[in-house]
Amino acid sequence: MHEYPAVVEIINKASEHSKGKFVKEINLVIGDLCGFVASSVELYFPIIAEGTCCEKAVLNIERIKPKLKCNKCGELFQRKMFSFNCKCGGEGLLTEIGTEFFIKSIEVD
Ligand SMILES: [Zn+2]
Repeated sequence: MHEYPAVVEIINKASEHSKGKFVKEINLVIGDLCGFVASSVELYFPIIAEGTCCEKAVLNIERIKPKLKCNKCGELFQRKMFSFNCKCGGEGLLTEIGTEFFIKSIEVD
């Protein structure tokens, strides 16, 4: 449910950016570990955008899969099910990759 205020924020930012013109497209980046669910953002967007300059905007969401960094060889890799280990036997540590949540670009009409 906390996607609701986040979507309000996105629409506010886009409105500021468009300076009263219609927003054509909003490109968002959402990491799988950021705490926001992409499908909820998609669900709220048209509801909140209604009546604003974003009501005709297309929302594109780029999903980022989390990556771990090996503590031995330094390789970045996607976590496998039930395992944090790298193929070299090292241990994968969490990185910032997958925690993204930001507006990449806004296209104005
Ligand atoms: Zn490794």
